[in-house]
Parts: sequence; C-alpha cells; structure tokens
Amino acid sequence: MEHHTIARTRVYLHRYSSVRYMERMKVDVYAAIIGAGFAGLGAAVRLKQRGNTSFVVFERAADIGGTWRDNIYPGCACDVPSHLYSLSFAPNPNWSRLYSSQPEILAYLRNVVTTYELTPQIRYNTTVISAEFSEQTGYWTLTDSVGAITTARVIISATGPLNRPNMPKLVGLNTFQGQAFHSAAWDPTCDLTGKRVAVIGTGASAIQIVPAIAPTVEHLTIFQRTAPYVTPRSDRAVKRFEQGLFKRMPLIQKAYRSFIFWQNELTGLSFVRSNLFNKVGTRVARKHLEAAISDPELQRKATPDYKLGCKRVLVSDDYYPALNRSNVDLVTDKIAEVKPHAIVTKDGTEHLVDVIIFSTGFIVADIFGDLNITGRAGQHLYEQWLTTGAEAHYGITVSGYPNLLLLVGPNTGLGHNSIVHMIESQLNYVLDYLRLLDGAGESAFLDVKPDAQDAYNQAIQQKLRSTVWASGCQSWYLNTQGKNTTIWPDLASAYRKATRRVNPADYEVGFSKESAPADQSAAI
Ligand code: NAP
Repeated sequence: MEHHTIARTRVYLHRYSSVRYMERMKVDVYAAIIGAGFAGLGAAVRLKQRGNTSFVVFERAADIGGTWRDNIYPGCACDVPSHLYSLSFAPNPNWSRLYSSQPEILAYLRNVVTTYELTPQIRYNTTVISAEFSEQTGYWTLTDSVGAITTARVIISATGPLNRPNMPKLVGLNTFQGQAFHSAAWDPTCDLTGKRVAVIGTGASAIQIVPAIAPTVEHLTIFQRTAPYVTPRSDRAVKRFEQGLFKRMPLIQKAYRSFIFWQNELTGLSFVRSNLFNKVGTRVARKHLEAAISDPELQRKATPDYKLGCKRVLVSDDYYPALNRSNVDLVTDKIAEVKPHAIVTKDGTEHLVDVIIFSTGFIVADIFGDLNITGRAGQHLYEQWLTTGAEAHYGITVSGYPNLLLLVGPNTGLGHNSIVHMIESQLNYVLDYLRLLDGAGESAFLDVKPDAQDAYNQAIQQKLRSTVWASGCQSWYLNTQGKNTTIWPDLASAYRKATRRVNPADYEVGFSKESAPADQSAAI
C-alpha cells in the first residue's frame, strides 16, 4: 500500500513539476488559482500535496487573507470556533481563544503560506481581468491587471462572496461633513474617542463593532432596520494545558474539532429539518435577550419578528449589554436623509453624528465580480447568471465552462457551520475532478452536462422551499428576483458526502481541436 502511494506520488511529481509540464503542454501552468484567502490557499496546499507544483495564485491585494485581511474593524473576530474554522490539514494547537480575533486568523493563514512554501507562487497586486476558454487549445487564457497573459489548463476561482460592500444610497450622504466608511474598509486613522458615532446595520459585523467602540465614543446611535437573533457565545481563553494537550496529542484536537462540528450540525437541523429544534433555538435566543436587557421598550425593539435562521443567527455575549449603556441608543425609525452633521429619521428626529460606520453588509446574491469569464460558446458567465441566477453543479462546475472550478460558489454558503469545512469538501471534489481529467489525456477537458446541472439545481431549489430561508424574511441570501442562490439547504455533512467523488456520468469529455485524433479516445 505504502509502495503504491510512493509510486503514485512519483508519477505525479514527474507529471506536474512546473518546468516539465509547461514544456510538454505548451501552457504556462496547470492551474490558475484566483484569490489567496482560505479557499485559494487551501487549493494551493492540496495541489502541492498531490505533487502538482505547476500553479500560480493571483491575488489582487498586496497580502494574503481575503476577508480576514480586509476586515480590520474593532472587535473583528470569527463567530465559528477556531479549532473548527481552520484547515483540517493545517491544525493549530496554539489558538489563544475559542473564538479567535481577526489578527490571529490572519497570522494563521500567513503561517500556512510559510509552512507550505506558497510565496513564490503567489502573484500579489495582480487582478485577473478576464479568462477565456479556447476549444482550439483546450486551455484558459487569463489576462491580468499587470498586462500579462497566462495560459492554464484549469482555473480554480476562489474570489470569495463577501467582498462587495453594500453602501446604501442615502439621500444627502454627499453633504455629510464628518467621516463615513464601510465596516470592511475601516479607516485605522479615524480616532473615535469622544466622538458621536452612528452605526448603520445590526448584522454580524455591527454586533462586534458596537461593544468594541461603545466605551470610548461619546455617543453611539445604532440604526436598526431588522432586529437580529443573538445567541450566547461563551468565548474564553484556551488554557495552556489544553494547548499543550493539542500539541502532544493531535488526535484530541481532531476529536474536539469533530465535537464542535457535530454540535453545529444540530443547530443546522433547526434550519433545514426540525421545527422543534427551531423552537428550542428561538427560546435560547429569547432567554439570552431577556437575561441581558430588562427595559421592556429596548427588549421590544431588539426582538426579531421572523423565523430563527432566516437571516444569519449571531453569537455575542457583549452586544446586548452594550445596548444597555447610557451613551448608546438603538433607533428603529427609518433613515430619511443625511445632513452635514446629522442623520435624520422619518419621524423628523435629527441624530447628531461626527462619524458614520456602514455595517450594511455585502452584495452577494446578484453581483458576481468584475472578472469577465468567457466559456465554450463565447458566452459570459456573469451575464448568463444575471438571467438565470447563479447556478453551478454542486456549486463547483458550470456547463459550458470546462475546467473552471469554483470554490464557495452558488448555493454553498452555510448559516450554521464552518465555511472552511465546505471549502474542504469542494477541494475533495476538485481533486477527484483533476484525477479524472488527467486520466482522460493531456488534450482533454471536462464539461458538466447541462441536464446534470439543471437536475441538481432544481433539486436544490425544491429543497430550499421547506427550509427556514423560505419563511418570508428579506436577506442577502436572496437575489433581486427572490431566488436563493447562496445557501446550501442541508447539513454540511450531507455536502461532504455528496462531494466526496465526482460522478463521471455527469461530465462530457471534450478534446482540444489541436490534438491528434489518436489522443481523443480516452473516457473517464
Ligand atoms: P449583514 O449581516 O448582512 O448585516 C447588514 C446589516 O445592515 C443588517 O442589519 C441590514 O438590515 C442592515 N442594512 C443593510 N442595508 C441597509 C440600509 N440601506 N439601511 C439600513 N440598514 C441596512 O452584514 P455584515 O454584518 O457585514 O455581515 C455579512 C456577513 O459576513 C455575515 O452574514 C457573515 O456571513 C459574515 N461575517 C462573519 C463574521 C464571523 O464572525 N464569521 C463576522 C462578520 C461578518 P436588514 O437585516 O434589514 O437587511
């Protein structure tokens, strides 16, 4: 068995070491990975582990980290425990807290880059502008912002869904005399001490910002459109002996990771299967609110009026206590306009503010990015999605776009568990896809059959109808036509099982027109 593995590894090393591959295939790289966040870095490591060093990672910024590089607002942390919100093949026994903060997560990702020696393959400050598939060559041609052209057999797109800030077009905003910025574009030079600050929005970012800045600002006005569900966080420092145990006995850390995962899957049941679990979860959130806030009027304002889970459920132990502070107001009247020094609500009240922080989330379901992806028949992916809504086979492959593999693609988001787990499920699928692709011959490409993709997406939409996400609330999970293009409507464990292997029957094998007829006989 061991000999077999070693022999196989040698074959891969021989096949994919950059120079050999490029020389033989007349293509620059085997794989072009777009994005150096959790997904892109995870893909790079998995390629290396398979002995494939012929890849580049395009990164638009000067650093890795994706959302964990961009979001530097005070209080920024992950609401999934770190022992689960990390790559299973790169465990970190040294997490300092159960829920780590942004700097620690970014440091973890930097460490992954160092450990797996990825730096030489990352092209920083390089945005991919277009990617075009050619049936003639069987390859993708990528054009980037530096003006360079790269050919690749496979594209792994890991651009992430949460990087297009949603900035409301408030009347009069251009007249505002103070500073105004989005939570994902935090201005570190802006000192909030003694200022009158407005936070617009009460989502996942806002509930972290509010308790972090409330003690230093003179006054904080929170503009809430919809009350969120907030459940207990129970964060704490990881004890030294626990870190030591994880270091010496990695299996214990693995077991702990599984424990958190399955605990979260139980929460997932309340979103996709069980009304009883949903009621229990609603009660837990309700008790959390009542324990922290005694003022009946504030309690009423902070109570959600939709089904638990329809919007992302938040976890915090310090958000509700922050609302109790004498220098904090929760405003539920709608915003009418912005004046040079105030936000005016529909009831006519002028709320004087020096700084406005937009914690208004991201555009996810409708806008897919600036990257122009052209498929087999000259069609454009994002234009196509504007009419159909974003759709892909298992959220990974799209018919008409051979050898394009999406990470965190359509309908692969979660409301209850770690997205890193979903990414790793997708990487299992990607590696199995590459195994089939390589087996089909050097001039081959795989294209998912339209029928397979349609049947899969119809099943997804059908399944969504009986979940909490179809219970009537407005959320960023839905596109402007009301179609849910973002959420996986089942447990993360079900996705892991479904993506373990690629079903070859779902794919058509194509061959580059330049290849010799003798090379076009492989089946997968
Ligand atoms: P969000 O959860 O979508 O919250 C946006 C907030 O802004 C909502 O309260 C929304 O109200 C409000 N809003 C949007 N447009 C508005 C407008 N025109 N006027 C007034 N209010 C408006 O956004 P986010 O907090 O940035 O988080 C986005 C996602 O990032 C999360 O769902 C989560 O997936 C991820 N995230 C994760 C973590 C983590 O710890 N892992 C932390 C932060 C963010 P409505 O509810 O009425 O739309």
